[in-house]
Amino acid sequence: MHVLVDLNRCESYGQCVFAAPDVFRFRGEESLEYDHVPDGASDAAVRRAALACPVQAITLGTPVEEAPLREVTCR
Ligand code: SF4
Repeated sequence: MHVLVDLNRCESYGQCVFAAPDVFRFRGEESLEYDHVPDGASDAAVRRAALACPVQAITLGTPVEEAPLREVTCR
């Protein structure tokens, strides 16, 4: 799962830190940092964190697999 936090929207309430402390943490008083691609074992906690965020700053997504390279012949 990919995690993206809109730090312009985040108000540092800390609900995500309580819900998923392995993924979200504060650095200093108010600076939120987080794992962008946390371990899959954290998925349930990350979903709880996204639901708990009072300003809906957390967006969850699925990692996109890179398309395989194809060999192309130029003339
Ligand atoms: S719960 Fe939302 S507003 Fe609070 S620190 Fe986390 S991302 Fe920011």
